[in-house]
Amino acid sequence: MNRVSKLFQPINKIPKSATIKHKEITSKSQRLMLDLGIIKLASPGTFHLLPLGVRALEKLKSFIDKEMHKINAQKLALPALTQAELWEKSGRLNNSAELFTVTDRHKNLYILSPTHEEAITDLLASIAPLSYKNFPLRLYQITSKYRDEMKTRFGLMRGRQFLMKDLYTFDIDMKNAEQTYSEVIKGYENIFNTIGIDFNQVLAATGNIGGLISHEFHYTADVGEDKLLFCLNCNYKGNVEVSGMDYCPQCKSNKIMVKNGIEVAHTFLLGDKYSKPLNATYLDRNGLTANLQMGCYGLGISRLLGAAVEVLSLEQELRWPLILAPYKVVIISPKAGSKEEAFTLGFDQELYDNIDQLDGYAGNVLLDDRNHLTIGKRHLEARRMGYPYVIVIGSKATGSTPLYEINEIVTNKQHLLDRNELLQYFRSIQ
Ligand SMILES: [Zn+2]
Repeated sequence: MNRVSKLFQPINKIPKSATIKHKEITSKSQRLMLDLGIIKLASPGTFHLLPLGVRALEKLKSFIDKEMHKINAQKLALPALTQAELWEKSGRLNNSAELFTVTDRHKNLYILSPTHEEAITDLLASIAPLSYKNFPLRLYQITSKYRDEMKTRFGLMRGRQFLMKDLYTFDIDMKNAEQTYSEVIKGYENIFNTIGIDFNQVLAATGNIGGLISHEFHYTADVGEDKLLFCLNCNYKGNVEVSGMDYCPQCKSNKIMVKNGIEVAHTFLLGDKYSKPLNATYLDRNGLTANLQMGCYGLGISRLLGAAVEVLSLEQELRWPLILAPYKVVIISPKAGSKEEAFTLGFDQELYDNIDQLDGYAGNVLLDDRNHLTIGKRHLEARRMGYPYVIVIGSKATGSTPLYEINEIVTNKQHLLDRNELLQYFRSIQ
């Protein structure tokens, strides 16, 4: 049974965020996640992810796994260390300013990888030549990435270690690679629609990764570090890196709007930028060798979590997308020694078991068993944590037909329901 009294959740009773020496509290999500025991600063730009944070992150990972499966991507895991010589071959070793590098006992240089285009292309090259029949091939991983940030900030949104989903696609020609690109983009749209926060897909610069075409997915927020241009005339959307800030590059109108965006995903149609120097080839129908055509598609898992909390939260209260909330339902039992307590003995446990058995709720119910605290105090804390549904076992639960108070935290709606209605209610919102 999940009990609040047993959670490892070091809440700052007096918010310490204001006094943290690093002066690193640069965003609302970072402050709330530190104060409410979701993350803890380990060193500048790195965080301990505490149990509630891990629960949210694991939910995001398993959701992304399902979505990757839908677009026929297979999961693998590449090592964090990549031989520097691969990056030398691709030409990126000397023009990446924020690389972490490591030297082993034999004086071999490795990169603590921020991304794996070279590593995965080398993997394909090492088993070449594959037949054209083996393609398309879509491979992804969800692993920690590293970047020696000049200026870490915004908590999980710009750290030196972060969790990323990176997908790499391999096709036999550009036509197929373009088809793959549009399929993956559709998959991404589906992901962002399900998370439910308004997002913007914009045309982006290819930058250090390179390639032929690139898009970014952004949440708009004041702390966003990218500037996005929206054309009010033709609906063009682009990162100003591509388009400048003065007028729309598509229709030349100056009826534009510029907003700050947090980049949460980035897609690239790469062509043979990596397959050529690293020699990743296949045998075509005529038995001739040709270079594979690639795409790469990043999605910042830990950053998305931080950005979603940033966009949805109130100043003093955390909010999560429903599918990422660490727990969906909190049950608050009566205060110890109250007359309600005597009338409702065992109700909390029964409700817990009933809801936990519903489809989609297993492991997602939390009992606030700190009965020495008033119902009001625990209700406020649950609201501050942003748990989507808070059930109070209060005075109405003492009647001949016990009624429970369900509070929808996001909409502020309240329902008074008996047990069957309550279970029906949770079934219907699933
Ligand atoms: Zn325009």
